[in-house]
Amino acid sequence: MAEKILIVDDMSVNRIMLKVKLKEACHDSIQAGDGETALRVAREEQPKLILLDMMLPDISGIEVCRRLRADPATSHIPVVIITASTDRARRLEALQAGADEFLVKPLNEAILLARIRSLLRACETEDELRLRAATCGEMGFNETAAAFDMPDHVALIAPDSATAMNWRAMLTPHFAGRIDLVTPTAALADADGQQVPDVYVVAANLPAAGSGLRLVSDLRSRVQSRHSAVCLVLPDAAGEVAAMALDLGATDLFPLPLDPEETALRLKLHVRRKRRTDQLRRQVQDGLRLAVADPLTGLYNRRYALTHLERVAQRARETGRRYAVMVLDLDRFKAINDSFGHAAGDKVLETVAHRLRDNLRPSDLVARIGGEEFLVALSDTTLGSARIAAERLCRAIESTPVALPDGREVHVTISVGLALGNADPQGRSEAAREVVERADTALFAAKTEGRNQVTISASAA
Ligand code: GH3
Ligand code: MG
Ligand code: MG
Repeated sequence: MAEKILIVDDMSVNRIMLKVKLKEACHDSIQAGDGETALRVAREEQPKLILLDMMLPDISGIEVCRRLRADPATSHIPVVIITASTDRARRLEALQAGADEFLVKPLNEAILLARIRSLLRACETEDELRLRAATCGEMGFNETAAAFDMPDHVALIAPDSATAMNWRAMLTPHFAGRIDLVTPTAALADADGQQVPDVYVVAANLPAAGSGLRLVSDLRSRVQSRHSAVCLVLPDAAGEVAAMALDLGATDLFPLPLDPEETALRLKLHVRRKRRTDQLRRQVQDGLRLAVADPLTGLYNRRYALTHLERVAQRARETGRRYAVMVLDLDRFKAINDSFGHAAGDKVLETVAHRLRDNLRPSDLVARIGGEEFLVALSDTTLGSARIAAERLCRAIESTPVALPDGREVHVTISVGLALGNADPQGRSEAAREVVERADTALFAAKTEGRNQVTISASAA
């Protein structure tokens, strides 16, 4: 991750002043004196944050912000616009251009630094997720189901219901999403359910002890709500409480009286950012799932199966109970591919996978460990019941032909090699890998003895 903050200001005295303040807080900085330079430096140096003066000699700060957002190379970098102007229209324009924050000179140093910390925290999370999603992508695990298109969802937590209703009435004309009015208790209780809002708007002056600040940090720490934005409504967004709120995890601060348009713009910004990180998080989760699953059949893959099997073996050693490993291989599968085509072959593999899964207990492991080779692990079993299970699998495949996409049917059989894990806590502990090898040898015997049958590893009994 980039380590520097980019300061953009045409006045060198302002740049130096900011540079010194940042240095005191251990942030290195780089500088640009005009808009075009800022855009180039942002692209090339990838700063971790940009402090952007509104008035620049060439293009306005707002235009710089707009262009930063439009360029995929810089669109993720947080931007704080700094200005001497208190003009509301400019402020709205800056937020519309994609600025994360808008600070008015003279700068309150505590707020500036707390704001930088909070933006950097949010960005680090996003960068980390982006990195992991990219790794999953590089490993080939980047298929992600499209997100449900849910309406933007905000929860308002005000000191009393009259205030809450007033806030909602003000926001409704500017915010198209769902706006719920909730009590602090309900906010925390709901946080355990499914319908988590994208943004919580929390009044600082809640009647309960600890008030709004406490609720901010509670919402931050709950599993369900910690990925939502939490915005604190404060009488004075520049006070000491403001800096503390940011450090406690508040995403944003809304000053009183609420400006309906500005608040709505900020809410939309936070919803957008949350949806973006949710999407990345899903990508990582799906990537992890794909890393252990076989995409064709949905069964576990070889890597997962062998790792899991070591765990099964370990537990068997601890409990003294036995476990069974089967290696199953389709008979004369090459001939099926040759006469019906590869797509038909794939259909056979999928169907066989389903039948194996349907004929075993949910706790049994079923994996595809090679092209047309499967592995089944039964924990806590005996040779007798493992053999019955293996024969049931052979019958489940043999008894019904596989229906091909073109309407034809093909008759398939499997051969099974079965080995029982040695779980004697007193005896030599056999590694799971060795049990798989014995099952493999037994499979070879099943093939040479005519296929469509179960062979048991000699040393398993
Ligand atoms: P045996 O009874 O001795 O196991 O004969 P076999 O034909 O099943 O075994 P062989 O190892 O000669 O051939 C396996 C075939 O499986 C070759 C390969 O084309 C096919 N195969 C491997 N992976 C896939 C796959 O993902 N899809 C399809 N359609 N075929 C595959
Ligand atoms: Mg085969
Ligand atoms: Mg094979």
